[in-house]
Amino acid sequence: MAKTAQDILNWISNDNIQVVDLKFIDMPGIWQHLTLYQDQIDADSFTSGVAFDGSSIRGWKAINESDMAMVPDPNTAWIDPFMEEPTLSMICSIQEPRTGEPYSRCPRSIAQKALDYLSASGIGDTAFFGPEAEFFIFEDVRFDQTENSSYYYVDTKEGRWNSGKVEEGGNLGYKPRYKEGYFPVAPTDTLQDIRTEMLLTMAKCGVPIEKHHHEVATGGQCELGIKFAPIIQAADFLMTYKYCVKNVAMKHGKSATFMPKPLFNDNGSGMHTHQSIWRDGNPLFWGDGYANLSQMALHYIGGLLKHAPALLALTNPTTNSYKRLVPGFEAPVNLAYSQGNRSASIRIPLSGPNPKAKRMEFRCPDATCNPYLAFAAMLCAGIDGIKNQIDPGSSLDVDIYDLSPEELAKIPSTPGSLLDALEALRDDHSFLTDSGVFTADFIENWIEYKLDNEVNPMRLRPHPYEVALYYDC
Ligand code: GLN
Ligand code: MG
Ligand code: MG
Ligand code: MG
Repeated sequence: MAKTAQDILNWISNDNIQVVDLKFIDMPGIWQHLTLYQDQIDADSFTSGVAFDGSSIRGWKAINESDMAMVPDPNTAWIDPFMEEPTLSMICSIQEPRTGEPYSRCPRSIAQKALDYLSASGIGDTAFFGPEAEFFIFEDVRFDQTENSSYYYVDTKEGRWNSGKVEEGGNLGYKPRYKEGYFPVAPTDTLQDIRTEMLLTMAKCGVPIEKHHHEVATGGQCELGIKFAPIIQAADFLMTYKYCVKNVAMKHGKSATFMPKPLFNDNGSGMHTHQSIWRDGNPLFWGDGYANLSQMALHYIGGLLKHAPALLALTNPTTNSYKRLVPGFEAPVNLAYSQGNRSASIRIPLSGPNPKAKRMEFRCPDATCNPYLAFAAMLCAGIDGIKNQIDPGSSLDVDIYDLSPEELAKIPSTPGSLLDALEALRDDHSFLTDSGVFTADFIENWIEYKLDNEVNPMRLRPHPYEVALYYDC
């Protein structure tokens, strides 16, 4: 049942909560937080918000207009399992302190606007998202402290970082064979207990949990399963997922990373995202089309495929994202859809004769995205597909990796780099901005931010592999 501000105030006094931790997501997608002594929270905090300086947050306000307010959502309250003193945690949206309007660059508010747009369009009233975020657990991680170094850390147990020397087959002792991490039992799988702890800790934070397992890559790749949820809640859950994974790993002297391709020549980490639209409690993606999809679902897919190159600037927003989107590692490379074919970027999972389970799975995203922005952008692309009845073309039911170069050339590909995706976004963003869900200012700021802080700094740094290629030239 929905909680009110008064429920939270009662909780604080009844359970003698000492501090309240307010968390919000910055523009690139990292949680930031401010901790208040319990008497600093009152009913007003839930309407006018709690003031902070927005000028120090990445990609937000300028120093001359820095005041902002974070407004906690009482439905996101849980006791933070990683803090020693009783700490009540809540997730916030950001609003303008003077007008009380949602801040136009607040990702959580943008996701709310995407949902409002869905309702206003008359298409549906609920968009469900089910992200599957994969990650690696490494042993003690050491950072290279070298001034101006472009990289990097070494997993001291595995002793490798982009070494390219992944063992092929053979007896590897108590660790999975190359590409056989999915999923032998212990003692080959040494991460069972830590994953169980991650999963159960997430449940304590209100995330509906389903399962966990080792993933395909040799060096400690994992996945925890959570239930799908409405757009904002799904993004809140994903952030809580990442928080629990990283903090449980830290507690055990290990480190978890969601970067999409930490190891050369082994599987990367994706965040496949299952999606469906509902109205009045009824699922709208079930029908009598291909793979029991409705016409609406096929148009939604058409929208995602059409806008995918631009969309990826938000769903795969790091330079490393594009090192994952290469052939041979179960990551999508071609923009096509299929039932069951895991080499297509959109898969229609088997759902049995159950209309409520009917959904499509977009396999491109990775967990370096800001989930509020990524979900909002995917929903906008899907709505555009529905409104304009965009035909997704015919399905691709062969293994795309087996196609001849001529056949392959007919299928559009995912962008080759973050720069390509940002350029696609520059050319194609009216599906995001015409509805007012994203402002033109947001898109411009996003592109500039990514170019200035990620694409260009990465491009300017000599890479370790360049040393291997050219040092002795
Ligand atoms: N790790 C793969 C990816 O990059 C997915 C593997 C799987 O879940 N089947 O998308
Ligand atoms: Mg999965
Ligand atoms: Mg997986
Ligand atoms: Mg999947």
